[in-house]
Parts: sequence; structure tokens; C-alpha cells
Amino acid sequence: MESFEELLEVSTRIHGHICAGQVIGVRMAMAGLERIGIAEPKGRDRKKLYVLVEIDRCATDAIQSVTGCSLGKRSMRWLDFGIMAATFVNLETKQAVRITALEESRERSKHYCPEIENKYQQQLAAYRVMPLEELFSFQEVTVQLADCDMPGRPLRRVRCEQCGDWVQDCREVSDQGRTICRACAGARYYQPIEQQEG
Ligand SMILES: [Zn+2]
Ligand SMILES: [Zn+2]
Repeated sequence: MESFEELLEVSTRIHGHICAGQVIGVRMAMAGLERIGIAEPKGRDRKKLYVLVEIDRCATDAIQSVTGCSLGKRSMRWLDFGIMAATFVNLETKQAVRITALEESRERSKHYCPEIENKYQQQLAAYRVMPLEELFSFQEVTVQLADCDMPGRPLRRVRCEQCGDWVQDCREVSDQGRTICRACAGARYYQPIEQQEG
């Protein structure tokens, strides 16, 4: 795998700016891959790797950049927990590690770069050099992944009996004997604007 500096450069380019989240995300992903025995995430190991992220913030872009996993490839899942954590799974060995960014690291960054006055810049610099155990907590975990959440062709495509939209990957729901989409089941996040006549 490339060095930390090289990976940070790439993720910063993709993300659009350098930020603490890029440093945290790159270090988290590198540590995660190492712990599940993945050496070439974009090469020979690419089909063995699966990542679940628990937040949709800066670090998630860095994790995507380092691991090569993405929503579009279905090798990354986003769980909207609002926690700066991610779980790295080796699909072959079933090894998985959940890594959480420690809130205390914000405070600890003062000890590493006391000469930097700006708090944000201080964190940015400190997160590069802080030992992993001061940045993260690590949990060995097991993860049950459903077949319909895995990469590859959709296992199923069905048509919503209410709105007619096609639903892939077993996301349909059963409602009083009918098969409908999640939107029709009450999770619709948009409201169609009625076309008023003249
Ligand atoms: Zn950012
Ligand atoms: Zn529907």
C-alpha cells in the first residue's frame, strides 16, 4: 500500500480540501486494513474488502479513497448513526474491526503541537503524529452481512404495486398482502407537486 502522505494527498484531492477528517480517515482506514489483513485494497484484495461507515462527514471520503470501497460498488454501506466510526471487514476470513475516533484526541492534540495557536491547525498537525491508540479505540467484532447487501447483480427486482417503481435488492416491503416500495410504505422523503390545471 502507498504511504500515509501519498494516501492523504489523494484523499485531499478527491475530497476537495485538507482537513482533520482527511487525516483521521486516512489513518483509520490504514489501521483498519492492517488489522484485517488487507494489503492491497485496490489490487488483489479488492473483492475481499467491505466497509461500513457510521457517519457522512469528511472522514468518510478519506476512507473511500484509501479502501477503494464505495456506495456505487456496494462495498461500502453508510449507517446513519452520526458516530465517527467505521468497521472494516475481510469477507474471506470474516475478520472485522470497528474503529472509533476518540473524542479525547481533540484535547490531547494540545500536547503534540503546543506551538500552534490555532486550535484547528493544531488538531490537523497533531492527528498526523499521534499514536493510533490515542486517536482511536479498536473493537474486534463480527458482522452479519445479508446476501442482498453484497456487491454483484441484484438478487431481486420487483415492482411496487402502488406507484409502479421498480425496487431492487430486497428493499420492498409487504403491506397487507401487497408488495410496495419503502416510499409508499410511509418513508417518502419528497412530496410530488400537483400539476394544477389552468
Ligand atoms: Zn473535509
Ligand atoms: Zn411505491
